[in-house]
Amino acid sequence: MIKGNYFQTNEDFKEHFYDLVDWDEIVNIYEHGFADAKEYEKTKNHRLEMAPTNVGEAIAYYEEVLNSCGEISGEYVSQVAQDVDHEGLKYANGVVTHPQAMVDVIHKYHEAGLGPAGFKRKYGGLGVPNIVKAMIAELMYRSDSSITIAVGSMGLASILERCASDEMKEEWIPKLISNHYTVTMGLSEPDFGSDLPNITTKAVKKGDDWYLTGTKRFQTVACGLNGEPGMTLTLARTGTQESGARGLSFFIVENKDYEVSGIEKKLGIKASATCEVVFENSKGYLVGKEGYGLVKYVMGMLNGARLSVSSQGTGIATTAYEEAKKYAEERIQFHKPIITIPAVKKMLDRMEREIAGMRCLMVEAAYSVDKYYWTEDAKDLDPLSAKAKDAKLWEKVANTLTPISKYYNSEMCNDLVYDALQVFGGAGYTEDYDLSRLYRDARITNIYDGTTQIQVNAAIGGITSGMSQTGVFRQYLDQRSQGLSFEKNLSETRKVFEEIVESWKKITDTTLREKFAFEVVESSARLVVGILMERAKAKSKSRKDLRKIWCQGFHVDSLAILTGNLIRIQNAI
Ligand SMILES: Cc1cc2nc3c(=O)[nH]c(=O)nc-3n(C[C@H](O)[C@H](O)[C@H](O)COP(=O)(O)OP(=O)(O)OC[C@H]3O[C@@H](n4cnc5c(N)ncnc54)[C@H](O)[C@@H]3O)c2cc1C
Repeated sequence: MIKGNYFQTNEDFKEHFYDLVDWDEIVNIYEHGFADAKEYEKTKNHRLEMAPTNVGEAIAYYEEVLNSCGEISGEYVSQVAQDVDHEGLKYANGVVTHPQAMVDVIHKYHEAGLGPAGFKRKYGGLGVPNIVKAMIAELMYRSDSSITIAVGSMGLASILERCASDEMKEEWIPKLISNHYTVTMGLSEPDFGSDLPNITTKAVKKGDDWYLTGTKRFQTVACGLNGEPGMTLTLARTGTQESGARGLSFFIVENKDYEVSGIEKKLGIKASATCEVVFENSKGYLVGKEGYGLVKYVMGMLNGARLSVSSQGTGIATTAYEEAKKYAEERIQFHKPIITIPAVKKMLDRMEREIAGMRCLMVEAAYSVDKYYWTEDAKDLDPLSAKAKDAKLWEKVANTLTPISKYYNSEMCNDLVYDALQVFGGAGYTEDYDLSRLYRDARITNIYDGTTQIQVNAAIGGITSGMSQTGVFRQYLDQRSQGLSFEKNLSETRKVFEEIVESWKKITDTTLREKFAFEVVESSARLVVGILMERAKAKSKSRKDLRKIWCQGFHVDSLAILTGNLIRIQNAI
């Protein structure tokens, strides 16, 4: 696998960091008048020592974090990823053993503080906004998914910052950060995956304490890492079975209190332990309020996880592209490098521009969350103020963009890795190169944390009702298009999108509507990415010409896709 600092060697990534993201805006939203730095001056609390005192310091800090992440990922993890995948996991008598090389590089990430990147400084996190988190995740996923999942799992627990009591936050968050806990989303059960409202694991209160009984399936790294501690954030029923989603609550359960009864044999992410977990009167700690488990807390946790999968898709696709390009430059057929053959070059060019689009969408989805998420922390915010209203609007945008970016980047990742393997020909089909691992690993991205079909269900309402004359999605599209001179094919794409939404709304049969929701969501994704690519082109300082070429190719493909979707919807049967 290509070795190098994955931050410093990726021009498109760097352009996002140095020229495209408006850090002034993000840092000011996140830092609340640099309150942590002021607090440090007063208290000398060592956890706040790195808190920036101005925007420039914050940017320099993010740069340092990304630089160190890019180095660990590209110089070290990339060099063991294939061996770790081939060695895989061992399971015996309830104990899972991970390859030692995997544990070693995970410790490197932890030493750099990258596990708890998104947690607040006061709990021991790096204290970085969602855009930086998304960038960190992309850099990590570029080298390997199994390893990144184990490190990044800790980030799932940042939902505790939002929903746990102050005592619980103080007790659990610093502990899980300093002890490098792995954290699992305790949702799926043997009979309930997408259908979470009907899960059956039960939680019963005895005295002041809660105890859980039931079986959870597909519990990623619930075993902990070779003897290190782990926990699941578990959804369990505290109401009756008939109470549906409202009868579900959210619990912390530590891995010392449950049994791992087996691990799955899988197509990909072979070094990521997918455990079956059995709770038998296992002690649980209730998080937040009873009955809010699924409707509030799990949805919050899943939204964070979905942004991370969007980064995973971008990271895997980037590696697949870089490896394929290198191979195509070196592989000689018919006395010339295959990269000079138009059919091969066409695949590589599409990969390059589609990845540029994926990265725009990944950053935009994280931006939309940053635009509202941190306002909750603002002291004395008047709910009627323009700032509060703006945050409300962006919350709605984020609720639509998050599933769009999870669906789109995971599907596009699969599509591009397919082509990358094709560039390798027969060699790509062997285990001699990383492509086969990337191809297998990519396949999980559009399944876990909610399948593509579930993301479509989550996005369709926000898109279609949001396209009314005063709707939020329309406002969003118009605002992001402001000041841009659209290429003809992008203007045309927007027009066809309007027709698609109108035609879909005219379908009266609900089954048909559900059947063709995908076409609407796909069309919205292509339009949003097209607009974001135009914005990037307009802002670019040194790569306008390249971005222009990308935009031209992207908009033609989009127009073709949307035209096809319109025909399908207008002929819906
Ligand atoms: C490697 C791996 C790791 C995982 N890690 C975790 C984890 O850490 N924690 C956890 O809780 N879970 C985890 N999962 C579970 C994962 O989230 C589920 O597999 C996924 O949500 C789909 O659920 P399911 O497998 O039960 O499929 P099903 O729900 O049975 O779905 C089967 C098919 O039906 C479709 N479908 C179902 N309902 C609908 C609907 N309403 N509308 C449209 N289509 C629908 C699906 O899209 C899919 O195509 C993991 C799974 C895997 C494979």
